[in-house]
Amino acid sequence: MKLSKISEHIYYMEHDPETDRPALGYIKGKKGGFMMDAGNSAAHYQLFMEKLQENQLPSPRYLSVTHAHWDHTFALWATDAVTIAGGKTNKELEKMSHWTWDDASMEKRLETGEDSDFSDTHIRKEYTHRSDIKVKTAEISFNGSMTIDLGDITCILREIVSPHCRDSVIFLIPQDEVIFLGDSYCSVPKGEEWVYDKVLLTAYIDELERIDFRHAIKGHHPPQTKEALLAELRAEWKRL
Ligand SMILES: [Zn+2]
Repeated sequence: MKLSKISEHIYYMEHDPETDRPALGYIKGKKGGFMMDAGNSAAHYQLFMEKLQENQLPSPRYLSVTHAHWDHTFALWATDAVTIAGGKTNKELEKMSHWTWDDASMEKRLETGEDSDFSDTHIRKEYTHRSDIKVKTAEISFNGSMTIDLGDITCILREIVSPHCRDSVIFLIPQDEVIFLGDSYCSVPKGEEWVYDKVLLTAYIDELERIDFRHAIKGHHPPQTKEALLAELRAEWKRL
């Protein structure tokens, strides 16, 4: 996995489908770095720190997550950065912090629909010892939006309606015309299939159309231009 530069201030490490590791992002500011999503384990987070070091980039001063799903948040405990999450995400994380990871508990959550087969499979792949799993809430939470001034570059954290989950946050970096989507563009796993909710997808497309950006960094796919992203989402919408 390599660290790529997508604009003057922004870098990302590509996703890894093997254990469902999402793309992680980084904004280099004069007053410090801002990391986008934490990673699915301390090992994932550490790999990203190594990539930053190789590229002479400092450890992040701030770290924020796009939503509560395990693959984006389970490394929150492993960072020294100030951690930030949307209010809904932090509520989810608080709930998940009481979960246990033995086989019976995991199977129960599949029955109740609290967790998906897809997550279950990949958690088992990422963690040799599931007793290593630690779920932590972020130190700072916000509702609506929040702006972080990194000196020469600003990042806007904003809640967004998404077909993927109810607690989606996107990161906008207007100066570099970049948006970091997390999984907000994704559908939801239902058994073997991934399904979009038409109402939510409509609202999501409307919202993206109104935001100015050139490049979108996606959680589990390569980056896209705004045009390519919207064309893909409209094609999904037409199939519904
Ligand atoms: Zn997700």
